[in-house]
Amino acid sequence: MRKIRDSRYPSETKSANENSTLTDRLGRGMHDLRISVTDVCSFRCSYCMPDDLYGGGNPFLSQESLLRFDEIEAVARVAVLLGVRKFKITGGEPLLRPELHKLIRLLKSIPKVKDIGIITNGFHLIPQLKYLRDSGLTRITVSLDSLQPEVFERITGRSEALPAVLEGIRAAQSAGFSPLKVNMVIQRGLNSGEVLEMAAYFRGSGIVLRFIEYMDVGYRHRFNRGLLVPNAEIRDIIQSQWPLEQVVPGYYGEVAARYRYIDGSGEIGFISSMTQPFCRDCTRLRLSADGKLYRCLFSSLALDMKTLLRDSDGSTNINNAGIEASMRRFWGLRDDRYSELRSTGADGDADKQIITQKEPDEKKIEMYRMGG
Ligand code: SAM
Ligand code: SF4
Ligand code: SF4
Repeated sequence: MRKIRDSRYPSETKSANENSTLTDRLGRGMHDLRISVTDVCSFRCSYCMPDDLYGGGNPFLSQESLLRFDEIEAVARVAVLLGVRKFKITGGEPLLRPELHKLIRLLKSIPKVKDIGIITNGFHLIPQLKYLRDSGLTRITVSLDSLQPEVFERITGRSEALPAVLEGIRAAQSAGFSPLKVNMVIQRGLNSGEVLEMAAYFRGSGIVLRFIEYMDVGYRHRFNRGLLVPNAEIRDIIQSQWPLEQVVPGYYGEVAARYRYIDGSGEIGFISSMTQPFCRDCTRLRLSADGKLYRCLFSSLALDMKTLLRDSDGSTNINNAGIEASMRRFWGLRDDRYSELRSTGADGDADKQIITQKEPDEKKIEMYRMGG
């Protein structure tokens, strides 16, 4: 049974707390909410859900355990009250969640929200583009690690998907999503030789290519430090071919270092979580598909929102005041800065601070579970 919304939280009315500034222990505001809508995916990327571990039989979340759209909306509304202005929808593969456009519409109806983006593997884009556009989605980021079919297959486990992803990117651009971004995770010896080819492919297209450092996020994919290519190395490779100049950050908390080609062929970006951590500016909160809030990609400490969204019989019963109080407290106590500690060689200590679970394979939450 659906129960009535708490009257303190009507869709358009101001809250008494609207003007309060919530910051964590390191003075960081809560500005971005990453919303995972599923943990399943059509790809098996080697750094995320490698096929040998996830090929068959891996238990994914049950349908019933996924947050319903009105439950996600309730958490999102409180997040906006506490300072969030941007949503990014993720997964797993978010476009596998049926009727995703309906969630986007709900999020779009929240006053003050400036930006609703999605990050996707791009394979399922074309049939959904019109719905995404009409629902009010503002940005699309497509993950694409290679233009070479064999390399693409080695990374994603999908041999036939590359043409559909490239078509999806083109179609998204034609549908008016701008600036469209493409994220490329570089792994040494796998796709590191493709930096110039990829840059050449997107130069002058209006699409912003961003290089993401391969990270030790999650546990099961067995992070191999030897595969990490520092972004400074990639920037030097590109710079030697096409000179670059830095662009000033667009807003506080922007994680990509932005550059533009001096010859006017557009912009590229570098997200260097491993070699140049940006924890001090990290304003992100993550909501997993089964309703857990995380303050850091590397933290296993979660705030379970479901108890504030559902009754014990599984029916939706939203406790807005409870959500707000819990989120305030959770963010107020935040002092996560895993990447910064890792870069100073103190990640062992970081683990001890962060880890609350006993099993070693539960030390870090998998990215497809938490929402990437
Ligand atoms: N399935 C969607 C996609 O791939 O775009 C959204 C979820 S995915 C977990 C979000 C992003 O995380 C992708 O750009 C992916 O490349 C990145 N990612 C996953 N595991 C990573 C790792 N170990 N290191 C760096 N980036 C990673
Ligand atoms: Fe799927 Fe994205 Fe993970 Fe690749 S990175 S396996 S596309 S969730
Ligand atoms: Fe933010 Fe945690 Fe990543 Fe640092 S390690 S940037 S705190 S998510």
